[in-house]
Amino acid sequence: MIPDWVAERSAMVETQLRRRGVRDERVLRAMLEIPREEFLPGAEGDPSRVMAYQDEPVSIGCGQTMSQPYITALMAESLELAGTETVLEVGAGCGYHAAVLGALAARVVTIEIIPTLAKLARENLHRTRRDGNIQVVLGDGSLGHAELAPYDAISVAAGAPEIPATLLEQLNDPGLLVIPVGERWDQELRVVSKRHGRIDYRVATLCRFVPLRGGEGWG
Ligand code: SAH
Repeated sequence: MIPDWVAERSAMVETQLRRRGVRDERVLRAMLEIPREEFLPGAEGDPSRVMAYQDEPVSIGCGQTMSQPYITALMAESLELAGTETVLEVGAGCGYHAAVLGALAARVVTIEIIPTLAKLARENLHRTRRDGNIQVVLGDGSLGHAELAPYDAISVAAGAPEIPATLLEQLNDPGLLVIPVGERWDQELRVVSKRHGRIDYRVATLCRFVPLRGGEGWG
């Protein structure tokens, strides 16, 4: 039997997000509306896609995962988006997080280093009609994307050994950057702000993301 996706989504928003303290109504609305199950690889209407609503990361192939819903919400909320911003995402994966950011900002560029996943993200965003203000780029996002810099907000979906200097350079002033920083499989989620040339950060939570590859990642 095919699950009731709308019911799955509203249960996720209530129990995993709102009850845990996610307050930004725009983030909650976006995650209530975006069909998360459509971003998993596999056949449309496949009941096993109900995995998309579990309270944990889900495999999307190529050894990568789609983040736990709560982490996606926390990251999106931390960027304080009002709707006018240009946002860079590093690590498109299946494109779900980009879809959430696309609902919150004016424009999103998301970079993915694995060609199969860049294609998956593009297809998913197109099929769900979320691609109007989202561009998927194949490349090494640890070096950002100079063409459209500076970005009002940057969201990094893979764990880095340090905050990549290039990303800080490509961040607008004022601007916010959210990124997991730490060991290869254990990080803290940092919310970094740039204001009047000053860089500060706070730690939002401890977390476990896949490693950031590339020039300013783990290689
Ligand atoms: N944003 C996704 C999560 C993807 S997981 C979501 O919707 O939940 C992290 C992704 O980062 C993986 O797809 C991985 O291939 C990608 N990645 C890792 N290093 C990268 C790099 N240097 N540039 C771009 N993408 C990278």
